[in-house]
Amino acid sequence: MSNRSSKFSRRLTDVETNLAPYAAHASQSRGRRIPEPSASYRGAYQRDRDRIIHSTAFRRLVYKTQVFVNHEGDLYRTRLTHSLEVAQIARTVAVALQLNEPLTEAISLAHDLGHTPFGHAGQDALNACMRDFGGFEHNLQSLRVVDELETKYADFAGLNLMFETREGILKHCSRKNARELGDVGERFLKREQPGLEAQLANIADAIAYNNHDVDDGFRAGLISLEQLRRQELFDAAYLEVHSRYPDLEDRRLIYEIIRRMIGTVVTDLIETTRQNLEAAQPGSIDDVRRAGRALVAMSDEVFEQHRSLKQFLHSYLYSHEQKLEMTRKTKAIVSDLFEVFTKDNDLMPEQFAAAARGREEPDRARVIADYIAGMTDRYAIAEHERILS
Ligand code: MG
Repeated sequence: MSNRSSKFSRRLTDVETNLAPYAAHASQSRGRRIPEPSASYRGAYQRDRDRIIHSTAFRRLVYKTQVFVNHEGDLYRTRLTHSLEVAQIARTVAVALQLNEPLTEAISLAHDLGHTPFGHAGQDALNACMRDFGGFEHNLQSLRVVDELETKYADFAGLNLMFETREGILKHCSRKNARELGDVGERFLKREQPGLEAQLANIADAIAYNNHDVDDGFRAGLISLEQLRRQELFDAAYLEVHSRYPDLEDRRLIYEIIRRMIGTVVTDLIETTRQNLEAAQPGSIDDVRRAGRALVAMSDEVFEQHRSLKQFLHSYLYSHEQKLEMTRKTKAIVSDLFEVFTKDNDLMPEQFAAAARGREEPDRARVIADYIAGMTDRYAIAEHERILS
């Protein structure tokens, strides 16, 4: 081995020696679906993260709805900024727990790649259209994007990611779908857990949206300070900020509260997870998978406050009349598009029209669902106008 390459391999090994035994180690990975030589100066999970960032689906997240449709305002979260906030929170915890940070980041950045335009309204509409053809679920679609739909590489479809990254992207899955997914579906049949990095990205997702939706909902005037103060997590932070800065204007007030709420939940998550790891003593990622329960977790008390805030956002923000009005409009766009593309496959771009041609009905429907799911909000609106007006 030349001097140069031994220096590189030493550096890669050093990344691994900073990891706890229960973290995902590339050297113990179940690998890529199609074996590839390792990169000379990046670890395997760094490479996955980079492939995700360079993907087409990732760039589209900037024009996809998180809660507010993209054209409702420039300051609200989009799927892209949401994914970045998830990654930020998850990486902090990963480092504190000596987990694999690049893997945690890769899963966080990829977790919403399969989302349709218009957020959950778009997904529900597409799922209804696909009722007779196996349904549509954004989480499963995220895996489909990285396994099949990205067309960038000469040697394989998709991004050919490491098993642990794919395992993390597939957060939940029915037993029926799990049977069709091969290796990555197995844990749902065996009722095993994913690695800690996957568990962490999943919780960081919920922490991120709970907090940024308070910010966006308050900014939009759909939820009030009085309503929010009935939430224990919010009110504790409010009282602390208010006693220190009694005259703070709303924008600074809300942000000072949110940073404290994130701090409270994240600190609790790190401490509780440390205790869980201490008690379970997993010696490897396989021990984590067989632990019988998720080890990355909040304490019961903080989890209850977090859950209550989530419930509050469901009742008062996501179900707000103004949001429901938008939900009705955007669902109609998705269903209309599905209907016209079903009647005439050639209304889709040639790549999709060709994929649908001569196929059985369920396969054709899946091609249409892939095309619609890949659309950004504004592209779906433009297509709807082009074809239906
Ligand atoms: Mg998400």
